[in-house]
Amino acid sequence: MGSIDTPQNPENGSTTLPPTTDASATYDGDQNPTNGMPPRATEMMLPIESEVVKKRKASMFPLEVGTRVLCRWRDCKYHPVKVIERRKIQSGGTNDYEYYVHYTEFNRRLDEWVKLEHLDLDSVETVVDEKVEDKVTSLKMTRHQKRKIDETHVEGHEELDAASLREHEEFTKVKNIATMELGRYEIETWYFSPFPPEYNDCLKLYFCEFCLNFMKRKEQLQRHMKKCDLKHPPGDEIYRSGTLSMFEIDGKKNKVYGQNLCYLAKLFLDHKTLYYDVDLFLFYVLCECDDRGCHMVGYFSKEKHSEESYNLACILTLPPYQRKGYGKFLIAFSYELSKKEGKVGTPERPLSDLGLLSYRGYWTRVLLDILKRHKGNISIKELSDMTAIKAEDILTTLQSLELIQYRKGQHVICADPKVLDRHLKAAGRGGLDVDVSKLIWTPYKEQG
Ligand SMILES: [Zn+2]
Repeated sequence: MGSIDTPQNPENGSTTLPPTTDASATYDGDQNPTNGMPPRATEMMLPIESEVVKKRKASMFPLEVGTRVLCRWRDCKYHPVKVIERRKIQSGGTNDYEYYVHYTEFNRRLDEWVKLEHLDLDSVETVVDEKVEDKVTSLKMTRHQKRKIDETHVEGHEELDAASLREHEEFTKVKNIATMELGRYEIETWYFSPFPPEYNDCLKLYFCEFCLNFMKRKEQLQRHMKKCDLKHPPGDEIYRSGTLSMFEIDGKKNKVYGQNLCYLAKLFLDHKTLYYDVDLFLFYVLCECDDRGCHMVGYFSKEKHSEESYNLACILTLPPYQRKGYGKFLIAFSYELSKKEGKVGTPERPLSDLGLLSYRGYWTRVLLDILKRHKGNISIKELSDMTAIKAEDILTTLQSLELIQYRKGQHVICADPKVLDRHLKAAGRGGLDVDVSKLIWTPYKEQG
């Protein structure tokens, strides 16, 4: 399951860099190891640097990991970053480096390699303290999550000590695969994913969009497509409405597919746990279908047996399909399955930032719709029975909408029609609906 990555780290909120008041602390063309970087106009007019400053500048390069500095982003503005990693530029001189930076105001998915000229060297601040304690706290996990942590070398370890957690961070801090090709899309990836070691040296991966096998080279994929006989995910098609289909894949019966899906998903989910134990999961893959086949839009996974009444483990809408209502469709689908099982469900925590947004939107929409139609009093228990949404999730949603009060020892829902209308307007369109009449499904039963 993805984790909440906002606030993603302890340095958020403390990102202000001291103003560069030292007029002499300017870019120094002679001392700077990068070639061909012109000094800026204002700098050329400044007086000659003192020896002290020159010395300090010379010792600055290459920048240390942990350095905080301003960096020019794609919006052409400067934002505070922290240097996460550095590497030598292959074609460059002995002192030429590029830097992997984390924009402290943004999500980790925007971390990237930048060249020295993107950095505002006047703002360089070397950080001495690496707060190990904070890091560990931010990575605190439940026992359940630890069981499924996403690294081969810690797999099977029940307890992770601080050192292992640090190792985990160290190991996953830099994106390994930059882009992937899937069907007709080339997609920029967001996070590290632990592909087998033989894929360490490739920046781009080519996926077969049907069986999700991945390859290093385009020609390999082209050869594969000639002999791959799948035109849709494996497993059972349990839903079809218009051009949308949902497939249910048993991780035990389709192990390789399940693993491939997890590798792919991890590219877009931070702190997500990768399930080597795909046997224990069902995967629900949503597709848009046309005459060429069924193209994956997104998916969610679900434990076959959850003691904690989780009805969803991981959820992902692929970037080209985001903002079209598919996230809420997947969520709605997971609750329809719970209704068929006669259970209430809740997503496994923690949720990713985007996952949480989708859930908030879904819960709000569903509950407002019922309250709007319902005459008379209604309890949280009744709402839960109708929607399969867990009581706690209903409570927090209604609290955030200020539709609930605590009176005489119990929660009372106060659904003022005016307030409801205001919230409904703000909630906007509900997106794609699941047509329950098109769902042909029976709850999972272990066979044999
Ligand atoms: Zn294939």
